[in-house]
Amino acid sequence: MKHTAHGYWLEEAGAVELAPELEGEREADVVVVGGGYTGMWAAWQIKALEPEARVVVLEAETCGHGPSGRNGGFCNSMWFSLPNMRGRWGDRAALAVAGAARDAIAGVGSFCESQGVDAWFKRGGYLQVSTAPPHDDVWGKAVATCRELGVPDVVQSLSPDDVAARCASPAFRAGAFYPDAATLQPARLALGLRDRLRAAGIEVWEQSPVRSLRATPDAVQASTPAGLVRADSAVVAIGGAAKTRGGPLRNTLSVTSSHIVLTEPVPDVLEEVGWTGGECITDSRALIDYFRTTPDGRIAFGWGGGRIAMGARLRGRAEVDPEVISQAAARLREYFPALEGRRLTHAWGGPIDVSPIHLPIVSPSRGGRVFAAAGYTGNGVGPSYMVGRALASLALDRHDEHSRLPFIDPSPQRVPPEPFHWLGGEAIRAALMHKEEAELAARSPDPLSALVSKVPELIGFHIGR
Ligand SMILES: Cc1cc2nc3c(=O)[nH]c(=O)nc-3n(C[C@H](O)[C@H](O)[C@H](O)COP(=O)(O)OP(=O)(O)OC[C@H]3O[C@@H](n4cnc5c(N)ncnc54)[C@H](O)[C@@H]3O)c2cc1C
Repeated sequence: MKHTAHGYWLEEAGAVELAPELEGEREADVVVVGGGYTGMWAAWQIKALEPEARVVVLEAETCGHGPSGRNGGFCNSMWFSLPNMRGRWGDRAALAVAGAARDAIAGVGSFCESQGVDAWFKRGGYLQVSTAPPHDDVWGKAVATCRELGVPDVVQSLSPDDVAARCASPAFRAGAFYPDAATLQPARLALGLRDRLRAAGIEVWEQSPVRSLRATPDAVQASTPAGLVRADSAVVAIGGAAKTRGGPLRNTLSVTSSHIVLTEPVPDVLEEVGWTGGECITDSRALIDYFRTTPDGRIAFGWGGGRIAMGARLRGRAEVDPEVISQAAARLREYFPALEGRRLTHAWGGPIDVSPIHLPIVSPSRGGRVFAAAGYTGNGVGPSYMVGRALASLALDRHDEHSRLPFIDPSPQRVPPEPFHWLGGEAIRAALMHKEEAELAARSPDPLSALVSKVPELIGFHIGR
């Protein structure tokens, strides 16, 4: 098994020729810092709204080589977050975000189609399953909320037989099905977007980390080691790096990690378990298992239980963690015993930017000239299109339904400072692991793990879907 930081998707998508490093001074209407999905969608949508706008993207390394090119490729909606959003923002605002997140899936699909980007976009829906009795109805609140808010068709409860008809695993119990979801090849999408930005006349500079972002009353100035960009406004979309010392969301984010293993092609196994509809699947634990298939019949299996990064250490075990990978590999085989004797070909991982409310955050600052976005908490593939659209309106100073979405918040909820944040985060992770392992084994969790795993909710942080 090839265990690297960058993983299979980027390898499959093929090598890219680096864009040049920024040297000297440039003028722009909007400077976008960070070439992941969020920054690239923002740039794309700014240009769509105002074709004459001068847009410059500054990327520290290579666009799309962070989490945007390495994720599980679940292009999901946010209906499962409707109860959380309703509790925070009220009915109308929650529905506005959930509707925009649903439209984002269509937006990603039509971008691929209209731009000729073959990112394996496939609408197969999202299946959430229970794997232990305490999880048998975790979607009940989402089902009830969707019904109460007039969108009953966006989620259906499934019996164990209905679940088995979509995918038969000895670990699965009941489930819920959300039709508004697709899978895609994440690196093909990211690199396709990178190409189309450049073809649309957007300047993309790579190997150009922004070291400082200064705002004056009438401009912002982003400086890299060899150049600077002066612009009217700035979008900062640097994922987990927003938590670094001096970063725009350092008091707001936690950074954890997630890791994926990939099988060799096993189309016969998929036939045997009846998993041929292209559904993306998760279990219902807080430290989530997530899995999907590929067109050549592989299973990509990820685990969201990676370690907490101290501060924003995005390298090391946030990317390559053999211990976490071996746990993920063992669980994959428990779900699908028919994989006995089949090879795992690749493993990789990456950082996850987590917000205390488990929802993305856009934070305007510096007199409304700088807009920082992150905090997808492992669900950024679809929502980054929606956030990119909101950032486009904000950066162009347009006042419309996108610039009023409730995740735009100048004073988002804070997390404790380091090292308390890391110590507390690791303690909670360990407690959740013990509690959820006990639940899977039909045991009662030990009282200490049960208590500590409740701490996030007690201090107002949301975990789980
Ligand atoms: C293993 C894994 C599995 C996942 N699975 C899923 C999934 O199935 N579905 C889903 O919806 N989400 C998933 N996610 C989350 C998803 O990948 C992210 O939410 C999404 O990619 C975030 O995009 P982004 O553009 O905000 O950030 P990123 O992709 O992190 O991009 C930020 C970019 O900013 C650059 N940068 C950083 N600092 C600077 C600087 N100072 N100057 C210039 N550039 C800078 C970085 O190099 C990077 O390219 C997963 C993530 C991981 C790691």
